[in-house]
Amino acid sequence: MAGILSMQMAAISPAVPKVTANQLINPQSLSAIDVAAGSQLANTLHEVTEAYQGALIAQTTGVSSGNSNMPGSTYTSAHSKATPQVGTSVYKYFDKAGKSVPNFDPNGKAKFYPSQSSTTPYFTYP
Ligand SMILES: [Zn+2]
Repeated sequence: MAGILSMQMAAISPAVPKVTANQLINPQSLSAIDVAAGSQLANTLHEVTEAYQGALIAQTTGVSSGNSNMPGSTYTSAHSKATPQVGTSVYKYFDKAGKSVPNFDPNGKAKFYPSQSSTTPYFTYP
C-alpha cells in the first residue's frame, strides 16, 4: 500500500506557484454576438480560456499581469492563445444630437451591434 502511494506521488508534476485569474464578462453582450454568429457560448468560452491562458503565463513567468490597459499586460498573448471568438462586433458612434459620426464623441454615444446588418444594439455607452 505504501509503495503504491509513493508511485502516485511521484507521478504528480513539480509544484508550481498558485495563481488566480479574474475576468469580467457581460453575458448579455456575449450572447448577442454568439446568437448573431449562429454560435452558443463560443465568446464566453473565449473569455474563460483567455483568463486561463493569462494565469498560465503568470505561473510560468512569476509576474502578475494587470488588465489590458496596464503597461506590461500579457492580455494580447493570452487573447491569442484562447479559443477563437466568433462573430463581429460593430461599433457605431453618434454625437449629442444623435447624428452618426466617424469617431467616439465624449458628449455622444457609442452603440455596439452584433453584426453589420443588425439595427438593434446589444450595448450602448453611456
Ligand atoms: Zn480576448
